[in-house]
Amino acid sequence: MEKCSFCGKSKKESKLLIAGISGQICDSCAEQAYNIVLEEIKSKSEFNLEHIKLLKPFEIKSFLDQYVIGQEEAKKFLSVAVYNHYKRLTQKKQKSGKDDIEIEKSNIILVGETGTGKTLLARTIAIMLQVPFTIVDATVLTEAGYVGEDIESILTRLLQASDYNLEAAERGIVFIDEIDKIARKSDNPSITRDVSGEGVQQGLLKLLEGSAVNVPPQGGRKHPDQKMISVNTKNILFICGGAFDGIEKKIAQRLNTKVVGYTASANTENVDRDNLLQYIAPQDLKSYGLIPEIIGRLPVLTYLNPLDRIALRAILTEPKNSIIKQYIKLFKMDGIKLHFEEEVLEYIVDKAIEFKLGARGLRSICEVIMIDPMFEMPSGKSKELTIDLKFARKKIEKINIKKLKVA
Ligand code: ADP
Repeated sequence: MEKCSFCGKSKKESKLLIAGISGQICDSCAEQAYNIVLEEIKSKSEFNLEHIKLLKPFEIKSFLDQYVIGQEEAKKFLSVAVYNHYKRLTQKKQKSGKDDIEIEKSNIILVGETGTGKTLLARTIAIMLQVPFTIVDATVLTEAGYVGEDIESILTRLLQASDYNLEAAERGIVFIDEIDKIARKSDNPSITRDVSGEGVQQGLLKLLEGSAVNVPPQGGRKHPDQKMISVNTKNILFICGGAFDGIEKKIAQRLNTKVVGYTASANTENVDRDNLLQYIAPQDLKSYGLIPEIIGRLPVLTYLNPLDRIALRAILTEPKNSIIKQYIKLFKMDGIKLHFEEEVLEYIVDKAIEFKLGARGLRSICEVIMIDPMFEMPSGKSKELTIDLKFARKKIEKINIKKLKVA
């Protein structure tokens, strides 16, 4: 009699009996086997929560220090926020909390000029945690029904970054860049609908506050009949970044109004007018045009400093994968020993400052200097190359500055 080789059920007792070379399997055993396979794959996944070693804030910061120069305050805030976030996740998993104190999610907002390391910080955190990570530009988001990307597309990207491992995506990190660009344009909230501003903020709110969102797995509206996936955003960490051009004025205004009265002289004297961002507070974001609900969902607010000469010089060589280290490695792969004279490094920094290109410009300046050697050296006989000031100058002076594109 034909029966399942695993559970022994007869053909009559099962809905389906699949025949193999040396036996049969019934539908329920096949289903069970499939689930075992899924579990096994999940447990080996790089995104498995058990694989995450919960680093202490101090260790998280040390990791960030290897890649990001300066920005001490932002690193400290991020380290604590990420630590708490993962503590919260593991606590839930262990179901150890007998009390009913629920640790709330601490989404983060980073304020600082472009090219000061906001994306780099978020990216480095994601590498460290080995969680799915995606970057979205808030400027492409529009309210549902308008031209542009729906808010849900953020989650589509996160799903894609996790290879559609829903559980992993639900613990991922989303970096929303240029959040300042969806600020309300007018202080009057009742003014005609502001497609790119408040509506998008309202849409984002749904994601930030943690809810089940129906997400088109392929994104966009091109596949109208795709089956939606329900993604719960409760444990997704959102890190928002923005330059908030001109917010210093709002900060200054607030600082001045606050210090009216007898404490005036004492407080204003201590204000470092050259770097007002360090005093940023939630109410400044509100004056800038973020709606209070959004600000409330981004409880960790910190800032990044503008990069000075010293920082730019350090960025060239100090990070673990610094630009200069990368060139040296590239040449080493061809058996060539590459060396940069210190004067050249200073010169590259000078040019980045002169052309107002910031940290991003460092790379494009280096590329201009290095393109010919990178083209010629692999076919040559020489096994050593020193880049000196004369050589660097010659390359930079030859090019049109407008060509120095900043990625
Ligand atoms: P933002 O998101 O603030 O606009 P990014 O993080 O994208 O800026 O920075 C652009 C590039 O400049 C980075 O990829 C990195 O190479 C470099 N960079 C910027 N700030 C730093 C920093 N503080 N430390 C190291 N590298 C930096």
